[in-house]
Amino acid sequence: GSIIGIIGGGQLGRMLAIAAAQIGYRCHIYAPEDTPCAADVALRHVRGDYADIDALTAFARNVDVLTYEFENIPADPLHALAAFDLHPNATALELAQDRLSEKDYILGHGGRPADYRAISTLADLETALAEIGTPAILKTRRFGYDGKGQARIGDSDGAAAAWAKIGEQPAVLEAFVPFGMEFSILLVRGRDGEIRLWDAPENRHEHGILAHSRVPGGGIIAEQKAAAGDLARTVAEALDYVGLLTFEFFAGADGPVFNEMAPRVHNSGHWTIEGAFTSQFENHIRAICGLPLGDTNLAASRVEMDNLIGAEAEDWMRWLKTDRAHLHLYGKGEARPGRKMGHVTRLYFD
Ligand code: ATP
Ligand code: MG
Ligand code: MG
Repeated sequence: GSIIGIIGGGQLGRMLAIAAAQIGYRCHIYAPEDTPCAADVALRHVRGDYADIDALTAFARNVDVLTYEFENIPADPLHALAAFDLHPNATALELAQDRLSEKDYILGHGGRPADYRAISTLADLETALAEIGTPAILKTRRFGYDGKGQARIGDSDGAAAAWAKIGEQPAVLEAFVPFGMEFSILLVRGRDGEIRLWDAPENRHEHGILAHSRVPGGGIIAEQKAAAGDLARTVAEALDYVGLLTFEFFAGADGPVFNEMAPRVHNSGHWTIEGAFTSQFENHIRAICGLPLGDTNLAASRVEMDNLIGAEAEDWMRWLKTDRAHLHLYGKGEARPGRKMGHVTRLYFD
């Protein structure tokens, strides 16, 4: 079978490699770590820096198709891989790794982000706060994940502290959205342009980290998921996107508010491994390999996914003793606070 090259070695790469193996494909992993958790289940691990164009090119030569599972790869080396079969394309990655260009793009395609301003200096921040009001959230344009690189501003006195907290780097200020619920849209687009969506999970975050996803979501999500899904389709087509694309939304009082997008498989889609007829991981592999896409329908009446974060993974044995619970552990070493160690998916047949 063909060999898939995955750039990035975390749990997303691990679950992609497992899905690939199920349908007879093998994976090579490119990651800088000595023991990335994806390498445990891959044919080969090439250790290299994400900015090392020569090493990436050598990696690309030994695989049939290339993908990535980590959105903070520098875009230039990925553009340099344009001669290879790379999906999703480097343009999609470049767009999604900058919160400002991402929000501009969404606005330009009919979506509605929270009111936002570009910030380059403390003076910009003070001006923007006067326009947007408080509460507001200051976020670095790049490299944020799991709520890192963000500062909440409750009143205008907090401007200097927030600017210092995020390291005085290019940022966006966005209005705080008083949402009732959060949800995501998981979309896959094939090489032939076919698009399929899964049902939209309702997501709950704790300390900025995804804690829980459930499908179907609450009533307000049922009302808003069609509009959110339409935006997702429009963007996927405009980007000529191939693979799994994720959009996070707040269910606002006047409809879905776009939060951010991720050009990859997503934590809020882990429930699809057992909870849908085809998982996000398998459909990503199918898409990038030019295979027919699989059925994204629910395989139960309800599905719930809980992340095991830090010490929560210590008592993993209890999940082995629980019927209809599917335990996933990522084989990471140390259970540092805030680190995603695994997850549990439970199916319900009401
Ligand atoms: P991820 O790990 O999803 O990439 P991230 O670091 O990119 O996270 P965001 O998705 O921007 O962070 O924010 C994390 C969470 O913080 C959101 O899911 C939401 O719960 C809350 N949050 C972020 N922005 C806002 C906002 N403008 N209004 C209200 N809550 C917000
Ligand atoms: Mg993010
Ligand atoms: Mg997010």
